[in-house]
Amino acid sequence: MKLLDGRKIKKEILEGLREELKTLEKLTLVVIQVGSFDASNLYIESKRKMAEFVGIHFKYLHLSISISERELLEIIDRLNVDDKVTGLMVQIPLPSHIHEKTIQNRILPTKDVDGLCAINMGLLVCEDSSALVSPTAQGIVDILDYYHIDIAGRYVVIVGRSNLVGKSVFSLLLNRDATVTVCHSRTQNLNEYTKKADILIVAVGKAKMIKGEDVKENAVVIDVGIHKDCFGKICGDVDFDSVKDKVAYITPVPGGIGQMTVANLAKNIVKAYFLGKKTGR
Ligand code: NDP
Repeated sequence: MKLLDGRKIKKEILEGLREELKTLEKLTLVVIQVGSFDASNLYIESKRKMAEFVGIHFKYLHLSISISERELLEIIDRLNVDDKVTGLMVQIPLPSHIHEKTIQNRILPTKDVDGLCAINMGLLVCEDSSALVSPTAQGIVDILDYYHIDIAGRYVVIVGRSNLVGKSVFSLLLNRDATVTVCHSRTQNLNEYTKKADILIVAVGKAKMIKGEDVKENAVVIDVGIHKDCFGKICGDVDFDSVKDKVAYITPVPGGIGQMTVANLAKNIVKAYFLGKKTGR
């Protein structure tokens, strides 16, 4: 079994971007958080560190949990027209009185560095190179490419159908000629699919749900989940210990897709800068 090392790839990507960014004007990433969720705080901290490393200005707007949807939309509208803002993202989860998709769709597509607005999702499906694509989904494809793992013609099973992961990586891999099945909480007999996958991508948000008996011999396993187990140790959606001796490649948690996500967020901010220049926004 070989570990797919996201940390090493992130370092290479960020070092390259740090050089490129020296030649550009200062870019700004704005991250909005409503209320406070422990997991979100960790993600925000990793984005702040990434921005500091590559030389992007990081602006964090921490808003009260009682802010209304209308007030949040007004803040987004102001940031959308602010020339100094290159990339804008709203950390999820949001409190239940705020509709996630309404917020995501309000962000100007050329500043939507999370790639979650309907326009960017549509551009992705249509294979339009101007799409800003979910950094997590792109990170999955990039890690496969880095290790020269064939995609075309392979059977890929994705467990989880969120826009952020499942649906975005489905489009990317279909566009790369994989045969792709997407499973979700209503899929019957899940492991009849997972056991057939050449490449298995798991993004369910359930610690250690996928076990050794659920994977095919010599499969490639991409574990997107991040959790703390009952001993406080970080783990993924895949039960690493029961899977590791059976598979050809696996992403570790931590050190796998989380690292690729941060690296691709940085790439998206640079892409957003050039898209903004091109479209005048
Ligand atoms: P969501 O909660 O948005 O989606 C989870 C998906 O899993 C849903 O489609 C759900 O199905 C499906 N699901 C849940 N339970 C089962 C089950 N028992 N069998 C089959 N499918 C199931 O999560 P995200 O996609 O946002 O994130 C998934 C995981 O990845 C989380 O642990 C999250 O923390 C992590 N994550 C990690 C990132 C990183 O950088 N490494 C980035 C983003 C997320 P249904 O649609 O039917 O409800």
